[in-house]
Amino acid sequence: MHFKESRATVTRVIADKGNHFYIVLDKSVFHPKGGGQPSDKGRLSGQNFQVDVKKVIDHNGILVYWVKGLTGTPVLGEVRCELDLENRRIISRRHSAAHLLDHCLSTITKESVQTTDSWLGDESYVGYKGKLPNSQLLSNVESMAREMISNGAQITIRFLKPEESDEFKNAPNFERLPHLSELRIVTITGCDPIPCGGTHVSDISQIGELSLQKGLQVDDNGYRVYFAIA
Ligand SMILES: [Zn+2]
Repeated sequence: MHFKESRATVTRVIADKGNHFYIVLDKSVFHPKGGGQPSDKGRLSGQNFQVDVKKVIDHNGILVYWVKGLTGTPVLGEVRCELDLENRRIISRRHSAAHLLDHCLSTITKESVQTTDSWLGDESYVGYKGKLPNSQLLSNVESMAREMISNGAQITIRFLKPEESDEFKNAPNFERLPHLSELRIVTITGCDPIPCGGTHVSDISQIGELSLQKGLQVDDNGYRVYFAIA
């Protein structure tokens, strides 16, 4: 396993059932669950305890780590944080793939797309408003995305003030964005910029082999496109 190490201080510990605990750190080391993205995983080690980070939740701006005790009992004080980079990498590749999917779907169907939700854990999908495109169109979406991945394109991230954000009113996820003091804009070179708080690879060539698993009309209002990366 590959880990990224850093140090932080435990400022709060609350016991949960079954040797689980809620922990708050003085700085954000792990990326929380949110926007369809599962949280980072990893390990925290104090002087006399070690815990596995199972989930990180953003609770009104405070990151809460839900952890499972391995040895000892967590206490306040300094800890070594090990971020599971392999898990982070897979999630980032899936997240970039989801943005690429938005682009290819709107290009192939010649319509702007509006996302409803997404999940980037196992059985990843992106949910869209409207009627499921036919299988030929979905197959064209897959081919287009694969070709773009093999050509590669840089992914850049920049920050905007809300008053500068008017140009993003047509973004596929604009209605779902949280109200933040700053808008984080993720752009795949050659595609429309998308406001997004998630983690991404730096070039779409790193997404790897993308396949569309299936399309599913969920109800009258929307459908899901399930995808996988290898
Ligand atoms: Zn995103």
